[in-house]
Amino acid sequence: MNLVVFGPPGAGKGTQARMLAEARGLVQLSTGDMLRAAVAAETEIGKQVKEAMETGQLVSDDIVIGLISDRVDEPDCANGFILDGFPRTVAQAEALDALLKGKDKALDAVIEIKVDDELLVGRITGRFTCAKCGEGYHEIFRRPEQDGVCDKCGSTEFTRREDDSEETVRSRLKVYHSQTVPLIDYYSGTSRMRTVDGSQDIADVRRQIEEALNGL
Ligand code: AMP
Repeated sequence: MNLVVFGPPGAGKGTQARMLAEARGLVQLSTGDMLRAAVAAETEIGKQVKEAMETGQLVSDDIVIGLISDRVDEPDCANGFILDGFPRTVAQAEALDALLKGKDKALDAVIEIKVDDELLVGRITGRFTCAKCGEGYHEIFRRPEQDGVCDKCGSTEFTRREDDSEETVRSRLKVYHSQTVPLIDYYSGTSRMRTVDGSQDIADVRRQIEEALNGL
C-alpha cells in the first residue's frame, strides 16, 4: 500500500505516518527529515536548501522530486510507503503521479489531516523530539511518562526543530495555504482522497485514519 499524508505544519503528519508505518509494515518517507539530514551533513543539497528551510519557505520542486524518486526505488519500499510532507505543491503531485506510473506503482490513498490554524501555532511551538530514536513529544499534549526520559528508547537527549519558532511557523502556515491547499482540489477529483479531523487527540486521529483506509 502506498499512501500520501498531508496537512498543515503541526497537524500530526509525522506522528501518524510513523504509527501507521509501524502498524502496517510500511516505510515512512519524510522529505522534511531527508532535507534536515542533508543540512546536518552539509551535503550539496543541504547547502542549497538551508536558507529556505530556516525561513519556512519551500525548497525547489526539483530537489524534493529527485529525493523521492530515488528513495522509492530502494528495496525497503517494495511493500509500500507513506509519503509524509510530499507532495506539497500541485507540480510535485503531478510529478509523483508520473514517476510512480513509470515505476509501475500507484497511490492507494491520500489522507488529508485537517486542523484550524489557531490550534497549530501552540502545537508546534511546544513540540520536541528524542534525539536518539526520533519519537515525538509535546510540552502539554504528550509529555514522556517520566520527565526527561524517552518512553521508547530511554534516551535523555531531546531536540527541537529550528523552524518551530512562532515567527517561522506563521510563514510555514502561509506557504501551506498558498501552495499546498490546492492539492485538495487536485486529489478530490480522485477516489483516493480521505479527510480526517486532526484537532482530536493522537489516538482518535489514528482511529479515523484506519477507518478511512479500511473503507477504501
Ligand atoms: P516538514 O518537516 O515536512 O515540516 O518540512 C520542513 C521544511 O522542509 C519545510 O518547511 C520546507 O522548507 C522543506 N520541505 C519539506 N518537504 C518539502 C516539499 N515536499 N517541498 C518543498 N519543501 C519541502
